[in-house]
Amino acid sequence: MLIIGSHVSFDSKEQLLKSVKEAISYGANTFMFYTGAPQNTRRCDLDLNKVNEAKKIMIENGINIDNVICHAPYIVNIASDLDASKYDFSINFLKQEVLRLDVLGIKYLVLHPGSSVGIERRHALENISNALNKIISETNEVIILLETMAGKGTECGVNIQEIYDIIEKISNKDRIGVCLDTCHLNDSGIDISKFDDYLDNFDMLIGIDKIKCVHINDSKNEIASHKDRHENIGFGTIGFDNLIKVIYNERLESIPKILETPYVGENKEFPPYKQEIEMIKNKKFDNSLIENIINYYKK
Ligand code: FE
Ligand code: FE
Ligand code: ZN
Repeated sequence: MLIIGSHVSFDSKEQLLKSVKEAISYGANTFMFYTGAPQNTRRCDLDLNKVNEAKKIMIENGINIDNVICHAPYIVNIASDLDASKYDFSINFLKQEVLRLDVLGIKYLVLHPGSSVGIERRHALENISNALNKIISETNEVIILLETMAGKGTECGVNIQEIYDIIEKISNKDRIGVCLDTCHLNDSGIDISKFDDYLDNFDMLIGIDKIKCVHINDSKNEIASHKDRHENIGFGTIGFDNLIKVIYNERLESIPKILETPYVGENKEFPPYKQEIEMIKNKKFDNSLIENIINYYKK
């Protein structure tokens, strides 16, 4: 069965309940959320009544909580310890985030491995492993998923070897996994039309069972551009057919697929996810998708 959803919102008032309702409105059977704003680390206290209500609605709507993904804010950086207080803050924040997910009953936390600002690459990869070992040893349950990155600036985790180098130094490997991102793979230099070759290489070094989530995004830029700008499904350089082959790849059948494609409309005010999910289920590219989304939300 296809497990598909998108990035959804979460706020301090309605909390996970808001995320679940939004996912259902898109016809999704999973979703990904941030526990607050992606660009900051202010987080609210969890309301257990809301958590329980959200879980009830998930069950009623066929959303298995084991497929739900949380994304860590992208400003935490466990790769560089140039500023020791920032490094420690990031470790501490992530530990608190994992504890919050334990309360919510969420299994997966997606994390950008970080940027090696000002330090040597090998040292940065070691920092990441050390930080993860600390977070993992002081918490239970949650599995941290390293996201494959586009290679913008000094980003770490831009190829299979770097992901392998980080994972190799993790003591409890049951608590670590990988989240692929098709836009990031394309921008890092992977040809998505040969996705099965990538999976073969991934399997040889890391093991395909470590892949626990796939972000499905088209890309605004050419292969190996190291840019990281997402495009709507079928409207970018990867293309609809190549993305469909990833989404329906037999080796990743039981893995949640999450859309992080851009909002559309003059002010980027309309979420594309309901119509993109429909299009993916139909397996047929719709040239007028963007107009259809705008019309749907304007009426
Ligand atoms: Fe991400
Ligand atoms: Fe992503
Ligand atoms: Zn991205």
